[in-house]
Amino acid sequence: MSEPVLVLNANFEPIHVCSMHRAIGLIMKEKASLVLNGRGEIRTVSRSFPRPSIIRLSKMVKRPRPEVRLTKREILRRDNYTCQYCGTHSIYLTVDHIKPRHLGGVHSWENLVAACPACNYRKGGRTVEQASMRLLRIPTCPPATASYFFGRHLGCNTEWLPFVEGW
Ligand SMILES: [Zn+2]
Repeated sequence: MSEPVLVLNANFEPIHVCSMHRAIGLIMKEKASLVLNGRGEIRTVSRSFPRPSIIRLSKMVKRPRPEVRLTKREILRRDNYTCQYCGTHSIYLTVDHIKPRHLGGVHSWENLVAACPACNYRKGGRTVEQASMRLLRIPTCPPATASYFFGRHLGCNTEWLPFVEGW
């Protein structure tokens, strides 16, 4: 019951990932319908239910276009878990302020990059130029696309791909 279920808005826009338990609850209350099963069935004594992989809300839900939250996790993800100074690929990375805070550097997508501990230490409280280092690429705010938001689920739920691409 722990598999994630992709929730589509009434217009088929992917908006959310919920638990199997919640998805079945929404279907039983007729607030959502099954779009894709593909996971067999859940049996109880008297009934069996499809195990949804994708459901679609019956009524359109209004919501603001989401933004990617500025967190360490999202910065490492944006930078593909790669130190932006030396190119080391690792899950053990720190976040570096390109322009150090004590020099007026702000907490923003454009001023934060993934850095391995060695590069972060080497750079210290200096700017990139002062430390004679180079960035692999100029960091930007990641696009708030459905592929980005649901990307971490797509590896295990490839059947979601056609429903997520293009949004
Ligand atoms: Zn590095």
